[in-house]
Amino acid sequence: MKALVKYAPGKGNVGIRDIPVREPAADEIMIKVKYCGICGTDLHIWADEFPNSPPVVMGHEYCGTVIKTGPAAKATWSAGDRVVGELHTGACGACELCRTGKPHICDHKLALGSKFNGAFAEYLTIPAWLAHRLPEDIPWDVAGVTEPFAITAHCLAERGRLAPGSNVLISGAATMGLMSTIWASRLGARQIIVAGTQRDTDQRFPLARAMGATHVVNVEQEDLRAIVAELTDGRGVDAWVECSGAGAAIAAGLDAVKKTGRVILIGLVGPATIPVVWNTILYKELDLVGCFSSPPSSWELALAAEKDETVKLRRLVSTILPLTEWTKGFEMMRQGEVVKILMDMDTEG
Ligand SMILES: [Zn+2]
Ligand SMILES: [Zn+2]
Repeated sequence: MKALVKYAPGKGNVGIRDIPVREPAADEIMIKVKYCGICGTDLHIWADEFPNSPPVVMGHEYCGTVIKTGPAAKATWSAGDRVVGELHTGACGACELCRTGKPHICDHKLALGSKFNGAFAEYLTIPAWLAHRLPEDIPWDVAGVTEPFAITAHCLAERGRLAPGSNVLISGAATMGLMSTIWASRLGARQIIVAGTQRDTDQRFPLARAMGATHVVNVEQEDLRAIVAELTDGRGVDAWVECSGAGAAIAAGLDAVKKTGRVILIGLVGPATIPVVWNTILYKELDLVGCFSSPPSSWELALAAEKDETVKLRRLVSTILPLTEWTKGFEMMRQGEVVKILMDMDTEG
């Protein structure tokens, strides 16, 4: 089968290769992949800035149809079942984290698409416990964005416990920022302020409004501090959702959140160390909520919400490309104006 492979360590070293299909073990299923989304992480794997174990098939945001099941998976899965699935391959199932529903941060996890053969491939063979059944009325393009939608469900609903009526600042208007906007809106936020930069003005700010933002702020042109002060009678926002991973946005967010406010951290900052005025956290009595990846519970939340949010989620799919055009997709992601790009693995159309 054709697959997009990181074939050697170092920068680049990514290309389409012909590799054997792996038969499912007893507790595994084989999926014919429909779509697999390009994630910021994939760019970091390309650049060798994210841990990876080549040779490895990339891709972790997948949906598709079960075509084979190992004997132990037969009770749950049958050929023809439409599924999405988690990326927590390698999670041990035995540690305290796994046993309390947190395989996404198990020490033994070897994530799909970086340390375990992933889904930029025609077929994907994974442990059956990772799969979630796709409701019948969810179209493939919406299914293809379930993984980032589950992450934001985890961050805002499960970890962030955003209260109804909150005023929320969301820093960053890419996939995480826009999907956080959907969740803030679902959870009953009053004002949702999405802050971004000049390159967000053409595509992402209009999308932010469509996702439920009440205000968008181009921080290169406008004074975020003054706007937040005006909208919150000088108090600051109840919750700040940091999706940008940018030092300047982090400083501005700490400034914008109110005393006793909640800080929900989603954006990874890369290899850089970000200077933070630490005492601000103490003086303001802030609650800091770190978030990473998506536990199984958040997939259930995301799938339950997808029917309601189909129209919004579809708008976040900027384009769908065949696997052969992966370099174009990666380049569009690097430009930083689009939102989600899905790669079509279904070579027969
Ligand atoms: Zn991802
Ligand atoms: Zn574990």
